[in-house]
Amino acid sequence: MGMTGQGFQEAAVSAIAEIERYYSDLPSRPVLPSVSPGYLQKLLPTKPPVDGEEWQAIEKDMERTIMPGITHWQSPKFMAFFAASSTYPAILGEMWSAALTAPAFNWICSPAVTELETVVLDWLAQILGLPEVFMSKGEGGGVIQGSASEAIVTVMVAARERFIRRQLEREGVTDMEEAEDRSCELRGKLVALGSDQAHSSTKKAANIAGTRYRGIVTQLSNGFALTGKQLRMKIEELQTKGLHPYYLTVTLGTTNTCAVDDFESIAEVAKDFPDIWIHCDAAYAGAALVLPEYQHLADQTSFVDSFDMNMHKWLLTNFDASCLFVRKRRDLIDALSIAPAYLRNQYTESGLVTDYRDWQIPLGRRFRSLKIWFVIRTWGVKGLQEHIRHHLKLGDLFAELVRSRSDIFHILTPPSFALTVLTVHAHRKQPQHSGAIEGVDPRPFEQQHIPIEPHASEQELQEANSITKEVYTLIDQRAEFFLTASVIGEVYAIRVVSANPLAEEKYIRKVFDVLVSTAGEVLAKRDGREAPNPVL
Ligand code: PLP
Repeated sequence: MGMTGQGFQEAAVSAIAEIERYYSDLPSRPVLPSVSPGYLQKLLPTKPPVDGEEWQAIEKDMERTIMPGITHWQSPKFMAFFAASSTYPAILGEMWSAALTAPAFNWICSPAVTELETVVLDWLAQILGLPEVFMSKGEGGGVIQGSASEAIVTVMVAARERFIRRQLEREGVTDMEEAEDRSCELRGKLVALGSDQAHSSTKKAANIAGTRYRGIVTQLSNGFALTGKQLRMKIEELQTKGLHPYYLTVTLGTTNTCAVDDFESIAEVAKDFPDIWIHCDAAYAGAALVLPEYQHLADQTSFVDSFDMNMHKWLLTNFDASCLFVRKRRDLIDALSIAPAYLRNQYTESGLVTDYRDWQIPLGRRFRSLKIWFVIRTWGVKGLQEHIRHHLKLGDLFAELVRSRSDIFHILTPPSFALTVLTVHAHRKQPQHSGAIEGVDPRPFEQQHIPIEPHASEQELQEANSITKEVYTLIDQRAEFFLTASVIGEVYAIRVVSANPLAEEKYIRKVFDVLVSTAGEVLAKRDGREAPNPVL
C-alpha cells in the first residue's frame, strides 16, 4: 500500500491539518499566482526518483512547488467565472471514494455505488423541485457525470440516435446495412442548436457528435434570453434548406450574464417539433432552485428531455458532481449500451438493476454520490437554502453599490443569481437621481429584469469598451481580486460573482472600492490628470 497503516494515519493527520491551515489562511493569500509559464519544470527534477521517498519529503514540496502555482478558487477574493465549491464534508466524501475505489460500471461491481447514486439524485430532484418525470420511480432518473460539458455530449449523442431511429422507423427501413447507410446520410444533415449565449460546450459537443451547430442570436433588449419566436424562425430556416434540427440547449443561467431562456414560449414551439431533444443547461444557476421562490423555473422545464446542474459549482460539493436528469432513461441506454460477453451478468440480464455504464460515455465511474450524500446530510435542505440566500444577498448588495455610483458604472444586465455584469462609462456622468433610494433599481419590479441600453452611439460604445478593458486589466494585473471580463453582444463587460463558501460582505465592499478607485485612476489618466484620491 506504499505506507504502513500507522504511517498512513500519521501522514493523513498531517495532510488534514495542512488542509485545515490552508483554508484558515486562504483570505490572506493572493488569489492569483504570480508564476510564469514553465515555472514548475524549474522546481522539479527532470527525472523521476529511482528510490521511493518518505512522506515528509513529499509533503514539504506541496508548499514549495505546488502552492505558488495555485489559483485559489476557494478564496473569498475569487469572483471570476462561477464558483467551484469545496467543503469539508465533500472532501471527506472524496476520501472515502478514493478508499473504496470501485469503477462501478455495472450494479454488481459495487451495488452501493449504484444504489446510493439513484437515491441521492432522487433526493436532489425533490430538493430542486424538478418535475417527477426526472425521478427514478418512473421512466426517467438521474446520473452523475463529470461535468456539464460531458452531460451535453452524452445527451446530444442520445438525441442524435433517437432522431435517426425515429426517422428510420418512419421510412420503414429495417435491413441492417440499408439502415446504416441511411443513418450516415441523415447524420450529415443534423443540426444542433443553442442560443449565442449557450455555453461553448454545446458547440463542442456538436463537433464531437459529428453534426452541424447553429447559434441563435439573442438580444440585449430582452436580456439575452432565447425566445420561442427566434427558435421557430431558425428551425424553419434550417428545414427549408433540407437540414434537420435534432437537439437544442436551453439555458437557466447563461455563463455571460446568467440569463434565463424564455422557457414558456420555447415550450410552445417544442410541441410542434417533438423530434428535437431539448436539454436544459442549469450548470451554475440550477443550484438556486433549492429556494421555493425559484422553483417556478423548475416547473417551466417540465417539457425538456434532460436537465443538468453542477453541484460542484454553487452547491457545496467538490468537483466533480454534475447531476444529469433524463425524462426517459431508455433514450440514453438505447444510444450508449453495448454488452460484450465479459460485461454480461445475471443481474444485468434480470433487468432489475441499473448499470450506469449505459448512461454515460466512459465505462468505469467514481463513487461520487458519497460526497453528495455527505453534503446533503450535513446541511439539510434548510442549510442549502441559507447558503444560496447568503450569496444572493451579497449579489444584491454589490449591485446596489454599483448603482450608487451611476456616474462611473453602468449595470449591463441586472443582478441575476448573484452575478452582476457592469461596464465603465466612457466619461463620468451626472449621478442619476430618480427619487429612489440610492443604489436601488428605480424601475418597477416587473421591469427590473430588462437591461438598460448602455450606449448612445458607436463611438461611445468603443470608448466605454476600451476604458472598461483598461480597468479590468489593471485589476487583473494587481491580482488582489480575480474577476472575469467578457464581450457580450458588442459590449466589453466585467462580471463579478462571489459565491463560494468563504464569500463575505467585507470582500464585496472591498472589491467595489477597488473597482471605484481603479476606474477613477483610468478616467483621470484619460482626462490627462492624476487621480485625485484612490477612492473617489
Ligand atoms: N454550462 C454553463 C452555463 C456554464 O457556465 C459552464 C461553465 O461555467 C458549463 C456549462 C461547463 O461546465 P463544466 O465545466 O462542468 O463542463
